[in-house]
Amino acid sequence: MSVSITDTKSAELYARALQRLPGGVNSPVRAMRAIGRDPIFIDRAEGAEIVDVDGNRYVDYVCSWGPLIHGHAHPEIVDAVITATRRGTSYGAPTAGEVDLADEVARRFPSVEMLRMTSSGTEASMSAIRLARAVTGRTTLLKFAGAYHGHVDGLLAQAGSGLATAGIPASPGVPESATHETVIVPWNDGEAVAKACAEHELAAILAEPYPANMGLVPPVEGFLELLRNKADENGALLVFDEVITGFRVAAGGVQERAGVAADLTVMGKVIGGGLPAAAYGGSRALMDNIAPAGDVYQAGTLSGNPLAVAAGLATLRMLDDAAYVRLSATTEALASGLRDAAAGAGVPVAVTTVPGLLTIFFAETAPRDYAGAQACDHEAYAAFCRGLLARGVYPPPSQYEAWFPSLAHTSEHLDLTLDAAHAAFAEL
Ligand SMILES: *Cc1c(COP(=O)(O)O)cnc(C)c1O
Repeated sequence: MSVSITDTKSAELYARALQRLPGGVNSPVRAMRAIGRDPIFIDRAEGAEIVDVDGNRYVDYVCSWGPLIHGHAHPEIVDAVITATRRGTSYGAPTAGEVDLADEVARRFPSVEMLRMTSSGTEASMSAIRLARAVTGRTTLLKFAGAYHGHVDGLLAQAGSGLATAGIPASPGVPESATHETVIVPWNDGEAVAKACAEHELAAILAEPYPANMGLVPPVEGFLELLRNKADENGALLVFDEVITGFRVAAGGVQERAGVAADLTVMGKVIGGGLPAAAYGGSRALMDNIAPAGDVYQAGTLSGNPLAVAAGLATLRMLDDAAYVRLSATTEALASGLRDAAAGAGVPVAVTTVPGLLTIFFAETAPRDYAGAQACDHEAYAAFCRGLLARGVYPPPSQYEAWFPSLAHTSEHLDLTLDAAHAAFAEL
């Protein structure tokens, strides 16, 4: 039974948008090209549900790609933002809220004694790299194939052939000069990391400690410890990009769960509670190099914006231990329901999960690295997503993006999702 939804208004808006916005959108994945359909224009959202401009209602598993751990338009967050707005939207001068938020972050991340706020995760990772290069006096970076750290030139690099290759630009407009100092190795490949460390003096090893931008591909046992050791041996800084995982997989991110501390941590998404905010931080000794305490320059007109800080503070303050237990249970229930639904329909899938994140890979076994994620059946994922959307479930429209269950997802939402999944699998 395929349900038809009307999409007249979305189609009209898309036609207009294509005239003014490249591809009709302001960030590429929203266009839904990877799943072979046109984008859906959103009118409003509440809790775990979004409503499009044609009045169709969906259970949302994108949740703005991670910030909305409490779901959409949570009353306490909305109130905090409205209250802040009435007091002025931006001053270009420091506020108490920024100090409070820095305290809240430091309390959760023992490795982050000091931090600097930015407006996006891209800026935060760019600035963390600048700091790593400044303090080590080195330029070369190690990153992992399939990891995303924002659209920083030097990190928009893809692997050439073979292990531990110098990066080649992953986009026109990114000069080779920006990527030839980025070394790219496969995720979960300890030998490749060791080889790269033997061949290069690195400024930083940069990793999403639970990579979630090639789908969720958790580290194999001991891999994060290996990164910590190799960084120390090499004299490089270990930079964990916890933009997705920070405050989500645990209060203190992957560092808390894995017991491996980074030298610098990049944060974003949840920290801004749905408004533009991100940060990078580390030890006092490292962060005191940032201007004006030190001479590593970095600035931002809207950095530490009072609205974003208010949303971030309200978000973090509601994340108590019980919240993480609940988010983990929701994630597990969704994962096992999806596995059962796929098995019932005889569709081979592998569902990876950590608290608050999951990916359903259309493959017999879960990928260990980017090559594995690339080898999945992307056509089947696309068809599955189209089937879900037709039944009121809004999944991340790419095999490379993780699902973001939230604290607003109830057992009714999961039931509706799994009914839709059963039907969508049966159609494949
Ligand atoms: C989203 C993301 C970024 C970039 O953050 P923006 O705010 O989109 O610039 C960086 N790193 C990771 C791991 C992300 O998921």
